[in-house]
Amino acid sequence: MIDTSKHQGQRKQLVDQLKDKGINDTKVLDAIATVPRHLFMDPALEEYSYLDKAFPIAAGQTISQPYTVAFQTQLLKVKKGEKVLEIGTGSGYQASILVNLGAKLYTIERQQELYKKASRLLNNLSLKPKKTIFQDGTLGLAEYSPYDAIIVTAAAETVPKTFLDQLSVGGRLVVPVGKNSQKMIRYIKIKENKIKREVFGNFRFVPLLKNKA
Ligand code: SAH
Repeated sequence: MIDTSKHQGQRKQLVDQLKDKGINDTKVLDAIATVPRHLFMDPALEEYSYLDKAFPIAAGQTISQPYTVAFQTQLLKVKKGEKVLEIGTGSGYQASILVNLGAKLYTIERQQELYKKASRLLNNLSLKPKKTIFQDGTLGLAEYSPYDAIIVTAAAETVPKTFLDQLSVGGRLVVPVGKNSQKMIRYIKIKENKIKREVFGNFRFVPLLKNKA
């Protein structure tokens, strides 16, 4: 669990790159500057931790590109103390950014190996989600709903209505939608029966898959 001044310097440079690419939420940039991404990487790839790229982790999955993490987090507009659901814990990096921002986070992962690894790491770093859950998240997580924000970190072909049902009024859902490449979509529940939908840029995610692995 070593975080050196070299790592910190590399994070500052990464933050500058994200600013150049249009990320302007200072809380999000501060979180990226604080959380040691290298601890979430495959140890063999540690030296690349602060490149703005996605990398393979275990179980054929990926740790998202920092720009993507920052972009999704910025769209989510999480305030301290809000209840947030993440679908696709993966490495736990996106989760750690949300916890750093003060979210009460529920995070779901369908791959047992990743669920175990990320739970342990987040615990050791004292960036504890409220709950890490080993489950299929394709229908969200009704048990603890409604959420102030829901973030999906794998590509959905369509958006299940259950995700929208699980938002509180004022709640935001950020989800990449599409088959081969995805558009980032944000839904905001303006009133109980009124949803606003906004479409952002193109991204590439691993697919949202059904059932536990
Ligand atoms: N947020 C992660 C990104 C990981 S990639 C990070 O910061 O590293 C997407 C993750 O979604 C993968 O780990 C994959 O196993 C998981 N996933 C895919 N379908 C899922 C589902 N139905 N329920 C829960 N997790 C799922």
